[in-house]
Amino acid sequence: MSIAVSTLQSNIMESDDQNLASLRCPVAVAEGDGIGPEIMGATLAILEAADAPLDLKPITIGEQVFKSGNTSGIPSEAWDTIRQTGVLLKAPITTPQGGGYKSLNVSIRKTLGLFANIRPCVAYHPFTATHHPAMDLVVIRENEEDTYGGIEHQQTPEVAQCLKLITWPGSLRICQYAFAYAKAHGRKKVTCFVKDNIMKQTDGLFRKAFEQVAEQYPDIEADVMIIDIAAARIATKPEQFDVIVAPNLYGDIVSDIAAEVAGTVGLVGTANIGPRCAMFEAIHGSAPDIAGKGIANPSGLLLAAVQMLQYLGHSEHAKTIHNAWLCAIEDGMHTGDIYREGISKHKLSTEAFAQAVIDRLGQTPSTLKAVQGEVRRIETPEPIKPKQGHKQIVGVDVFLHWDQSDRDPDVLANYLAAFVTPHFKLTMMSNRGTKVWPQGAPETFCTDHWRCRFMPTQQNMPMTQAKLLDLLRMLHEGKANIIKMENLYTFDGKAGYSLGQGE
Ligand code: NAD
Repeated sequence: MSIAVSTLQSNIMESDDQNLASLRCPVAVAEGDGIGPEIMGATLAILEAADAPLDLKPITIGEQVFKSGNTSGIPSEAWDTIRQTGVLLKAPITTPQGGGYKSLNVSIRKTLGLFANIRPCVAYHPFTATHHPAMDLVVIRENEEDTYGGIEHQQTPEVAQCLKLITWPGSLRICQYAFAYAKAHGRKKVTCFVKDNIMKQTDGLFRKAFEQVAEQYPDIEADVMIIDIAAARIATKPEQFDVIVAPNLYGDIVSDIAAEVAGTVGLVGTANIGPRCAMFEAIHGSAPDIAGKGIANPSGLLLAAVQMLQYLGHSEHAKTIHNAWLCAIEDGMHTGDIYREGISKHKLSTEAFAQAVIDRLGQTPSTLKAVQGEVRRIETPEPIKPKQGHKQIVGVDVFLHWDQSDRDPDVLANYLAAFVTPHFKLTMMSNRGTKVWPQGAPETFCTDHWRCRFMPTQQNMPMTQAKLLDLLRMLHEGKANIIKMENLYTFDGKAGYSLGQGE
């Protein structure tokens, strides 16, 4: 049954009149590496048997392209096809060993602005092994921002930093998507995962965006949890979650935990959605250890294709295929990775499993929860203009590299006191975020990286960029080793910066 993408496409085109073909949704299809062609063949066979109205456009990306010397793994003609179709169904890619190759997934996500990652994690109890039979949640992860901007600098021999950028429009957009998703899928609750008790500015901003969006959805319960306890709860009580929305790093981690807790990563498909394009794939890799053996489980990719059909507005086809797949699972038709004695009835090859799904098209499961009703298409929110507010400079943090006098904060403070301009005075120093001057704790370990906070010498003295530059010049002339500065702003009178730990 293994069907090449190109063969399938030409079959579809030949068998239909032109009118019907024009109604088909164009989709770029990448067969991928390792088990990719096998699971893609099985997935496409099911889509074809269900008469999914798709116009498939094969593209070549991945190992073959990497090995030809293209370090991105995607040739320009593949980009053109993805942009023209706006939708990519992608099998897993092998990243060649050795340096220089970029993550293809990150390239696609960033280039196409795929801001939302959606990962449903469901336990198919009693047919697949899980400790949490009632688990049925969806993780919606912000996909572009946070520490994944990849803005990193080593600043001293001892200290490196990674910028965590959380934006208001980015946070609003992902939270809007999460609530719109919950509404379209008839889900009852959205839980936001943040650590805003510590990161009051970045995670605090994400939480504010969440709360603002939640007000527009009074019928959907909104909850906020601190990420550490929230992640622990996914491991112990995942059934208490419905839809989860999180910034990029937390979302990345909890979506893997959730997939694993649900039972097996082999059954999870994921969607990456942007304003103009979307990509759908399984969450597992190319499994080179079983490639070519015809035993891989195509379910992750198939469930990603189900999400793709919903995205394209073909929710009837999505429902038919999803229910047929649930029937196959509850009939014990299992590939080797999920096969269990006493539960499974047949250990199937990739092709035989696809046939088992095809044989059940039109049926609905009796034990597992059937997919019902129509999923409304989720409109991708328009990018949102930044909110306005009165912004005012009120001081500056100057970061210095200083490694003298046993790193005694009092010595550094006395040294800096000599450079105080008529406008500024040193008010606080911290090391690794902990206040060390004035009155730091003697136990605090200090590195060679110091944050020195300068505030106006007189309260209410207006601050300007020119005055800040005067301060920098004086420090420079005094041979201070400046790493960088961060202006301190208030927004509508509220401080937009953190205090030193212990301040
Ligand atoms: P993997 O997910 O490919 O394999 C881990 C284990 O799970 C293996 O034992 C494998 O046989 C099994 N497995 C995975 N999918 C299966 C399936 N559908 N059916 C049955 N068994 C399955 O992870 P890995 O071995 O760490 O990575 C292999 C390659 O995949 C690497 O080159 C990696 O970079 C790449 N990768 C690609 C993607 C992607 O394209 N989205 C994601 C993850 C890893």
